[in-house]
Amino acid sequence: MTRAVRDHVFYDTAVSICATCFRRVEAKIVFQDERVLLRKRCPEHGPEEVLIADDVEYWRRARERFLKPSERPLAFHTPTRFGCPYDCGLCPDHEQHSCLTLVEVTDHCNLECPVCYASSGPERRGYRSLASIERMLDAVVASEGEPDVVQISGGEPTLHPELRSILAAAMARPIRHVMLNTNGVRLAAEPELAAELAALGPGFEAYLQFDSLEAGALVDLRGVDLTDVRTRALANLNEQRVSTTLVCTLKKGVNDHELGRIVDFALEWPCVRGVTFQPIQDAGRNAGFSAARDRLTLTEVRRRLVEQTDVFRAEDVLPVPCNPDCIAMAYALKTAAGVTPLTGMIDPELLLEAGGNTITFEGDRELHGKLVRALSSGHSTGDGARRLSELLCCLPTIEAPTELGYENVFRVILMRFLDAHDFDLRAIKKSCVHVVHPDATRILPLETYNLFYRDDLERTRLAPLREWAAT
Ligand code: SF4
Ligand code: SF4
Repeated sequence: MTRAVRDHVFYDTAVSICATCFRRVEAKIVFQDERVLLRKRCPEHGPEEVLIADDVEYWRRARERFLKPSERPLAFHTPTRFGCPYDCGLCPDHEQHSCLTLVEVTDHCNLECPVCYASSGPERRGYRSLASIERMLDAVVASEGEPDVVQISGGEPTLHPELRSILAAAMARPIRHVMLNTNGVRLAAEPELAAELAALGPGFEAYLQFDSLEAGALVDLRGVDLTDVRTRALANLNEQRVSTTLVCTLKKGVNDHELGRIVDFALEWPCVRGVTFQPIQDAGRNAGFSAARDRLTLTEVRRRLVEQTDVFRAEDVLPVPCNPDCIAMAYALKTAAGVTPLTGMIDPELLLEAGGNTITFEGDRELHGKLVRALSSGHSTGDGARRLSELLCCLPTIEAPTELGYENVFRVILMRFLDAHDFDLRAIKKSCVHVVHPDATRILPLETYNLFYRDDLERTRLAPLREWAAT
């Protein structure tokens, strides 16, 4: 008798949530046709199959070999009671401190982007008071001691009438890097705002929404053609030498053919320290969103980046050990001699895997340790520069400045935020991009905040789920 064989390899079990009712459900992770699939079943809403990676080898390597012991926050803020993800946070079950924390200072915005996960817009008029923003900043400091990165966010934070005081309050606290997350509309119109930001000094960085070099994609993502706005905002930041990261929300079939061009464009601007690519998630306004049509997995983004750029090879784009399921990073060194990606700094003979032609950084323990540190540099190019300097001591093939500065480091970060479709309890517990609750008593993973805690969701969606979990 010949036994029937499954058409997939069963890899592991997982815990997810139903994308319809948000209840915790069991799931399986399987490999099929070179893809990683999450298969879950809700007793009420039936089965759902979700693609979570299109590169089994990278996904397994990230999960199994790019791990490090979790770094805890100084304090937890909620007890573990109903079970994850209904106890945020951070509760004692969480496995990573806040590498980057958002402080949302307003819900108001001068745009109404179809993809806005915060559902911000002109009609929303909520501004947090300076006193309550200071309490939120204090909550981050109490949780982290010296927070790596705090991002002043919104809504559109530059519209807050007390922006100057908010930035001063953030800069006055022991925060290593303060970022301003902006759509650039004010910066484009007011060069003097860029000058004010420049005066904040080296611990400050602009996180400029960028998305695309094409008008059609901008209209799709933002509702209006912002080409001119983005270029003028960037020119003003560049004029004032304000360290800037370009942030691109990626939507399949809309701007995922532009990654290489955006990297090349970013390299032309001396003030730009890197690009962050964030595939769209199912959260907030999300007008007309279709999970099957619009979502991109992290490995799909990585594949497109490598296909579209001459700057980075696949081996340069590595999992970030704090949260390898959701974040990948590629470093390049920018010097007078040009742009050198990480693999360009390493003697391949040193690292060739026995019998293969794949560069593996894991082969050399000291190198791998320093690589893990370099990749764990929060989200700031400042720390990245310091840790990349340490890493370069291991790399005998490159003449690098012993002290790297901001201007020498260029980073591409791929950051995926889980939603109700690809939710995986294992990955959410390692989330390191957090947001301070407006009540200033809690700090939550951005993903669970959007799913269960933002605005009215804690009362309308989470409360019944907690009741269900308690029974
Ligand atoms: S996501 Fe983290 S903070 Fe939230 S309930 Fe789970 S372990 Fe706790
Ligand atoms: S995504 Fe940003 S710019 Fe767009 S509406 Fe939301 S807060 Fe405003």
